Amino acid sequence: MLKSLQQNIEITNLSNFKTKAFTKYYFEINNENDILNLKEILEFAWKNTLKVLFVWAWTNMLFAFNLFDWIVIKNNLKWYDYNENTKILEVYSSEKITQIALDLENNYNQNIWHRFIWLPGSVWGALFWNAWCFWLETENNFLKAIVYNLSTNKLETLTKDELNFSYRSSLFKQTKNYFIIKIYFDLSKIVEKYSSDVDNIKFRKELQPKWNSCGSFFKNPSKENSAWSLIEWVWLKWFIYNNAYFSDKHANFLMTLKDNWDYKDLIYLIKLAQEKVLSKFDLLLENEVQIITN
Ligand SMILES: Cc1cc2nc3c(=O)[nH]c(=O)nc-3n(C[C@H](O)[C@H](O)[C@H](O)COP(=O)(O)OP(=O)(O)OC[C@H]3O[C@@H](n4cnc5c(N)ncnc54)[C@H](O)[C@@H]3O)c2cc1C
Repeated sequence: MLKSLQQNIEITNLSNFKTKAFTKYYFEINNENDILNLKEILEFAWKNTLKVLFVWAWTNMLFAFNLFDWIVIKNNLKWYDYNENTKILEVYSSEKITQIALDLENNYNQNIWHRFIWLPGSVWGALFWNAWCFWLETENNFLKAIVYNLSTNKLETLTKDELNFSYRSSLFKQTKNYFIIKIYFDLSKIVEKYSSDVDNIKFRKELQPKWNSCGSFFKNPSKENSAWSLIEWVWLKWFIYNNAYFSDKHANFLMTLKDNWDYKDLIYLIKLAQEKVLSKFDLLLENEVQIITN
């Protein structure tokens, strides 16, 4: 057993769904020195055929297990700097994207990330998913990222051409081969479409429930067919099954009523929605949120 690893740690609060979950091994990255431990942890994982899962808190994941038999690594890397002359933002991966967007407006009068205010999650999460908020996508301002390559155990710098961005996706999601340490954004780049007059703060407040959810659960099958409307059509909006339900505010938001509950209620509803939409519309609802199983 490695000294650096903690054992049998509760991780319920590391997913927004807050389903009761424990992990067999656990490690926290609090500074750049801790990254040096990754090599031996990954070797330990490889020798013992253990999977490794990186998390922050407030994650876009559903823990579909009671005891995770592998290694959970929690990223706590935080700090940022914004240069008002060059308009370059340098930020550690675990900073909250909302907080950065708010600080840019309040402290630097820089409102280019206004649309990211109240987008839950970390800066890396937004990059990993290429988050989209009312025509602002993370890739628009991305410049480069300092990453740890999990196969070679080396630090690398990746630029925009290498990231293969697409709808809710990036190289990080496609390969899961990198731990993102630090990200650089060029905030001098403005995209015309930002000028649409959606009030994102009001929109989120009125139409999106905040807690015990990971946001939209399913991807939209196409531009014409949004997941929320399909769920409404099969009468699952505000449908409750034990402790889980589809929100009455936004039908594609899967929610839990209580913390520390069993994940199985959520899985039941996910399958039910998929079956009903498939049989009525011949469309497959694919998860946007990752379901993590043992
Ligand atoms: C209420 C609500 C509203 C939302 N609205 C939107 C929206 O408008 N638009 C939108 O696009 N999304 C939306 N989302 C989804 C949102 O994009 C994601 O929840 C968020 O970006 C995920 O960030 P996270 O930090 O929680 O990432 P996580 O889910 O914790 O992590 C994402 C992935 O990165 C991996 N990972 C962890 N650390 C690292 C690291 N350092 N390096 C590399 N990989 C790592 C993880 O293993 C995981 O696979 C919403 C979610 C909620 C809850």
